[in-house]
Amino acid sequence: GAVDHECDVVVLGGGPGGYSAAFRAADLGLKVVLVERYGTLGGVCLNVGCIPSKALLHVAAVIDEARHLADIGVTFGAPQIDVERLRAHKQAVIGKLTAGLASMAKMRKVTVLRGVGRLVGPHHLAVEETTGLGKERTGRQQVVAFRRAILAAGSQPVRLPFLPQDERIVDSTGALELARVPQRMLVIGGGIIGLEMATVYSTLGARLEVVEMADGLMPGADRDLVKVWQKVNAHRFDAIRLRTRTVAAEATADGIRVTFEGADGARGEGVYDLVLQAVGRVPNGRSIGAEAAGLPVDERGFIRVDRQMRTAVPHLFAIGDLVGQPMLAHKAVHEGHVAAEVCAGELLGDEKLARAAFDARVIPSVAYTDPEIAWVGLTEEQARAQGIAVHKGLFPWSASGRAIANRRDEGFTKLLFEEASGRIVGGGIVGVHAGDMIGEVALAIEMGADAVDIGRTIHPHPTLGETIGLAAEAAHGSCTDLP
Ligand code: FAD
Repeated sequence: GAVDHECDVVVLGGGPGGYSAAFRAADLGLKVVLVERYGTLGGVCLNVGCIPSKALLHVAAVIDEARHLADIGVTFGAPQIDVERLRAHKQAVIGKLTAGLASMAKMRKVTVLRGVGRLVGPHHLAVEETTGLGKERTGRQQVVAFRRAILAAGSQPVRLPFLPQDERIVDSTGALELARVPQRMLVIGGGIIGLEMATVYSTLGARLEVVEMADGLMPGADRDLVKVWQKVNAHRFDAIRLRTRTVAAEATADGIRVTFEGADGARGEGVYDLVLQAVGRVPNGRSIGAEAAGLPVDERGFIRVDRQMRTAVPHLFAIGDLVGQPMLAHKAVHEGHVAAEVCAGELLGDEKLARAAFDARVIPSVAYTDPEIAWVGLTEEQARAQGIAVHKGLFPWSASGRAIANRRDEGFTKLLFEEASGRIVGGGIVGVHAGDMIGEVALAIEMGADAVDIGRTIHPHPTLGETIGLAAEAAHGSCTDLP
């Protein structure tokens, strides 16, 4: 059939993975077409994920902070919240960033095609043009012929099949719309996304309940960190149901009536004005026409790749949420760069680029709650499970001058060093701004640093970042008396 565009690389999906891949490929001299069904670039992260959630969490943190000042004699009136303007602010933040991406694409001469893309052969992608919010199709179709494809179609929220269609039941996208502030809110799923949104709604006035299948909130994080978080946040919750599943829900005039079932089979019930389902995300691998290119997709929708982000079909690459956990924007970006470099290396005959590979030792995780929880590398539980003997360096923020001055000394910084080599293998921080600090721990792990390297690195005083140096000193025995 007719081909409308020919390119070196087509990138399917304009999220953090896709735009990073497209921009890197263009910078390396390739002709690139980027296909996105929505009207803006940025994917889940910019439009309905990382960025809008942080815009709202910032507001929540300031409100909470202002309230806490009452303890030391500084009081403000109750906050007057104009939800309309708050929503407009969040949209403006998104708008600024997505417009920035559009101009970066233009600057690099990346052709952006608006529409739903689907592989129709090993070297062809059909793009059905979309308008509006991306669901309406105009009926116009274009065909892109490519030498390499980078698939970056991302993921979407898991839907619990037994939840009725009702505007009082939302996923993270619905929660970020901030249509209403409920009195009674149920969060199904006590992971990062659920608890971030819970923080926002609680500060705006909702009473919270959370239900989680695992035996603790924030599965994957170090239990000591979570304990601190839970103590500080206890006041927000009427109930925290662990080892519990949501098994049924019914929409009634009074609210959404939800039935729970504990691991012991005991049943419970509650009625809520808003129910947020945050039970994980599923990759979009089943809707990209993979079969037309002979590309295997697993039953959950993930596409398997090697360290070069190459799929089972050698000229097709896949990155980001589509290829597996952790589903995080910073992982997608790095994978996007690798895929673009390998494509450029092969197409331009640059052997060094062609050998590019994703070889990060660790990928940090952050819950941008209050306090934040950030971790990278092994947790104590994981080290134990893997039979790796570690010693830890702990620095409680109750001994940090800066944390005390900030009146936020509940946190701590914890570093884990492998007994055998002395090298750092993991770290976790709970406390305000933990997410901004964890990058240093990631760097230390990547560089193979030991406790002396980190402890003797002079950190500025008085900062929260200093607690990383002090935790390292605690691990190797010596201790300054600086805090
Ligand atoms: P996506 O961002 O999902 O982008 C995929 C894009 O492809 C989408 O724009 C989609 O419209 C498009 N697409 C899909 N199929 C097609 C098709 N057939 N044709 C055309 N276009 C298509 N991560 C963090 O690192 N930090 C955070 O703070 C954070 N907060 C989050 C908060 C929330 C509420 C949510 C939901 C997620 C959050 N994440 C966060 C996760 C992060 O958003 C994802 O890991 C990241 O967006 C993945 O990037 P991606 O490029 O793989 O895919």
